[in-house]
Amino acid sequence: MYDLIIIGGGPAAAGAAVYAGRALISTLVLTKDFQGQSTISPDIRNWIGEVSISGMDLSEKLEEHVRNQPGLTVKSDEQVKRIEKTADGYQVESDKDSYTSRTMILAPGGRRKRLQVPGEEELEGLGVAYCATCDAPLFEDEDVVVVGAGNSALETVIDLSGYARKIYMLTRGDRLKGDPVNRKKVEDLPEDRLTLITEATVRAVQGQDRVQGLTYYDKKAQEEKKLEVSGVFVAIGSVPNSGLVQQLVDRNEDGEIIVDHKTGLTSDPNIGAAGDVTDDPFKQNNIAVAGGIRAALSLYSRLLQMKKYSPCSEPEDCDEGR
Ligand SMILES: Cc1cc2nc3c(=O)[nH]c(=O)nc-3n(C[C@H](O)[C@H](O)[C@H](O)COP(=O)(O)OP(=O)(O)OC[C@H]3O[C@@H](n4cnc5c(N)ncnc54)[C@H](O)[C@@H]3O)c2cc1C
Repeated sequence: MYDLIIIGGGPAAAGAAVYAGRALISTLVLTKDFQGQSTISPDIRNWIGEVSISGMDLSEKLEEHVRNQPGLTVKSDEQVKRIEKTADGYQVESDKDSYTSRTMILAPGGRRKRLQVPGEEELEGLGVAYCATCDAPLFEDEDVVVVGAGNSALETVIDLSGYARKIYMLTRGDRLKGDPVNRKKVEDLPEDRLTLITEATVRAVQGQDRVQGLTYYDKKAQEEKKLEVSGVFVAIGSVPNSGLVQQLVDRNEDGEIIVDHKTGLTSDPNIGAAGDVTDDPFKQNNIAVAGGIRAALSLYSRLLQMKKYSPCSEPEDCDEGR
C-alpha cells in the first residue's frame, strides 16, 4: 500500500509529486501522460522564472523534475478508470493495474469547452486560442473575435484590449453576463475598438494555415454573416475532469472539486485536490503547482498524525519502478 497516490501529470500533479518525493512519502504518480493543457501553447510568458518558454519545454521540465525525486514510483502511461474507498484508504484502478493507498491527491485537470464547429480543431494554436492571459500578446494590432458572454469572455476582452486593434465580442444570448465590474470595463471600451454582436451562433472558423475569418448565424437578421479576423478566442468555460470522483468528494454545480483553499483538502480529509479540476477561480500553471504543493504538505502532516507514515529510510529503497 502506498501512503499517497497522485493522479495526473500536469503542473498540479508535478508540484504535489516533487514535495511528496522530497518528504520521502511512499508515493505513486499515476498519469496518462505528462502533457498539461498548456503543452500546446508555443509561447508561455507567465511561468515564473522564465521570460518565455514553450508549453512542450515546460512539461518536459516538470516531468524531469518529478522523475528525479527519490521515493516516487511513476507510471506515466496509465489512465485511471475507477477509484473506490476501502476500509483503510483507497483502491485505484487504471486501464493496466490496481493500486491501494492511504491518501490521494486528485490533479486530473480540465479541458476547455470547445465550440465544436468546423475549422476549430484544425486551427487550434493557429489563431484559435483558449487563454487570453497566455496568447493575447500574439495578436498585437490584429482583429480578433471573442466568443462568450461570461466572466472568462469579459476578461479575455480586457486582456486583448491591450494588444488587439479591433475586438468583436460574439454572444449567443442578448446580453453580457459576468461581474458588473468586468462588464463596465468592457462596455467602456470605445466603439472603434469593440463591437458587441448578440444573439449569434458560431457556424465555422475559416482559414488554411492561419485563421482568416469566422462565420456566424445572426438570429435577428436571420442570415449567416462573416467576420474577417485573424484570432478567435473561445471563452465559453471549461470542464473539470472530475467524473471519476463524483461519489467520493463534494463538487460544485460546475463539477469542480470543492477544496479548502488553506489546506488543499476536499470534503474527505484524506483526499487533496489541485489545479483546474478544483473550484480555484484562477486556472493557471503557477497556481496549479502551488495547489499541488499545498495538498501534499497537508497530507504529509495528516499521514504523520495517522501514525501510519513510514518514510523510506534510504531514498534508494523507494526508488524502484521509476
Ligand atoms: C491552450 C492553453 C494555453 C494555456 N496557457 C497558459 C499560460 O500561458 N499560462 C498559464 O499559467 N496557464 C495557461 N493555461 C492554463 C494551464 O494550462 C492550466 O491551468 C494548467 O495546465 C492546469 O494544470 P493541472 O495540473 O490542473 O491540469 P492539466 O494541465 O489539465 O493536467 C492534467 C493531467 O492529468 C492527466 N489525466 C487526466 N485524467 C486522467 C486520468 N483519468 N488518468 C490519468 N491521468 C489523467 C492528463 O493526462 C494530464 O497529464 C493554458 C491552457 C490552455 C488550454
